[in-house]
Amino acid sequence: MVQLITNVPQYENDIAEEIRLFWGAVEIRPDAENPDAVMTVTLDEANRLASGTLNGAAASFEVMPDGGDMLERKRQQKRAVKRVAYALLQQVCPTEMPWGSLTGIRPTKLLRELSERYGEAEAVRQFTEVFSVELPKLRLAATINAVQKPYIESVGPRDLDVYIGIPYCKTRCLYCSFGAEIARGASVEGYLVPLFDDIARGGRLLCDGGWTLRTTYFGGGTPTVLNAEQLDRLLTHTETVYGGLGSECTVEAGRPDTITREKLEVLKRHGVGRISINPQTMNDETLRRIGRAHTAAEIGESFALARSVGFDSINMDLIAGLPGETVSDFARTLEAIEALRPDNLTVHTLAIKRSSRLREQLDKYPLPSKAEVTEMIDMGFASAKRMGLWPYYMYRQKYQNGNLENVGYAGRDKVCVYNIDMMEETTSILAHGANAMTKRIFDAERRVERIAAPKDVPTYTEKLPVLDAQKRRLFSEDAPSHAENAPQANP
Ligand code: SF4
Repeated sequence: MVQLITNVPQYENDIAEEIRLFWGAVEIRPDAENPDAVMTVTLDEANRLASGTLNGAAASFEVMPDGGDMLERKRQQKRAVKRVAYALLQQVCPTEMPWGSLTGIRPTKLLRELSERYGEAEAVRQFTEVFSVELPKLRLAATINAVQKPYIESVGPRDLDVYIGIPYCKTRCLYCSFGAEIARGASVEGYLVPLFDDIARGGRLLCDGGWTLRTTYFGGGTPTVLNAEQLDRLLTHTETVYGGLGSECTVEAGRPDTITREKLEVLKRHGVGRISINPQTMNDETLRRIGRAHTAAEIGESFALARSVGFDSINMDLIAGLPGETVSDFARTLEAIEALRPDNLTVHTLAIKRSSRLREQLDKYPLPSKAEVTEMIDMGFASAKRMGLWPYYMYRQKYQNGNLENVGYAGRDKVCVYNIDMMEETTSILAHGANAMTKRIFDAERRVERIAAPKDVPTYTEKLPVLDAQKRRLFSEDAPSHAENAPQANP
C-alpha cells in the first residue's frame, strides 16, 4: 500500500497513474496505515514549483510557462506534478519505461499539439527531457504524425464522422471489458428498433446543423452478428437518413464465424469499402483459451471469401501478449498473416482491464513477460514492413503489459480515415447505439466534450430522447463548455 500526501488533490489520479506504471494495481490512500511507501507531491503557493519525496528520495521541477492560457496553466501544473512522481519512482525503483511518464492514450496528439504550440524542436525536447520518452517511441509518434498530416488537414470545419455500435458478440473474449451482450436472435432484432430511431435523429441533426458526413464506422461488439437482411436494413436506413455513408465506410466484421458470402455481398452492394477480420492470434489453442468460438483455418477462409467478393481493404487485428503465448507462437501468427497479406494490420498489446474475466482469473492465465511482449511488438513492426505496411495511427491503453502501445499499419492509400479522426480527436463524432460515445471537438480551444450512451439496452432505449437533446445542444453553435464527461468505450 502507498500513502499519497498531496496539496493538489485535483491531480491525485494523475499521480496514482504514475505509481501504477511502476507498481501495478497497488492500493493508494492518503490515510494508509503501515504503508510500504510514503509519497508526498506538492505545488508551492505560486504554483511555480512542484516537489516531492518518496522513501528518502526527493525531486522538484519548475512548472513551465503557460502563455496566460488558463487551460494550458493547468496542463503545465499537472505535467510538473506527474514529472515529480515519475522521477521519484525511477529513483526508488529504476524501470525501463518506453513512453516515460506519459500515461495518456494519445501520444501522437500530444506531440502534434506541442509542435504546433512550441515548434518541433521544443516538442522533441519535451518528449525526451520532460516526459522521458525513449527515442524509438518518439520516432514512431513522429512518423505517424507525418503520415496523418494530410488527412488531418483535410477536415472541414463542419465535418463529422458517424459511429454506429452493435454491442453484441457470439461469445465473450477473456480480456473483454466492453461488456458486449451475447447475440441472441430476438434481443438483436429488438435492439435495432431504438438504434434506427437514434440514427434517424442523428440524420436530422446533421441536416439542421448544416454538418457534412465525412466517414461512417460500424463497430461493436461485432456488427456482423446481424444477419444479411438486418445488415441490409441498417445500411439502407443509415444511407437514407444521412444521404449516404460519407467518403469512407468501415464495418468491423470481427469474428470469422459471423461472416458469410451473403453478408459480405450486402456490405459490398452498399459501398462499404473497408472491413476488419480480427484473428487476434492464429493459434487454435490460444483462440480456445481466450473464448473465441472459431479456428485459425476459419479466419483464412473468411479472408479468402472477402477477397472473392471484392474487398481490397481488409484490416486484421492481432494481440501481443495473450495468455500462454510465447514469442514463437506470435511468430507463427505473423507468418500466417503474411501469407494472407491484409491491407491493414493492427497490433495491440494486451491490456488487463478491470472489468475483464482475465483480471479476475490472472492466477489461471500466465502472461508472457514484459521483455517477450516487447519482442512481439517489434516483430509486428517488422512483419508489417515486410508486407509494405507502415504505421499510420496509434493509441495506448491503461494496464497494458510493458506499458507499450497499439499501432495500426496500412498500405499506400489504405489508411482508415475514421481511425485517425477518432484517435487524434480532430473530427467530431456523432455516435449511435448503446455504449457509444459522441464527441464534439472544439478545435480552437483544444477542448473535447463527450456524451456517453448508457451501456445496457433498456436504459439506452429509455434515455434516447434525453440523449438526442444532449447531442443537439452539444452540436449547436453555443454548446455548453462542460457537457457530460465520461470515459471512452473500449470495444
Ligand atoms: S473483446 Fe471485442 S470481440 Fe471480444 S467480446 Fe469484447 S467486444 Fe466482442
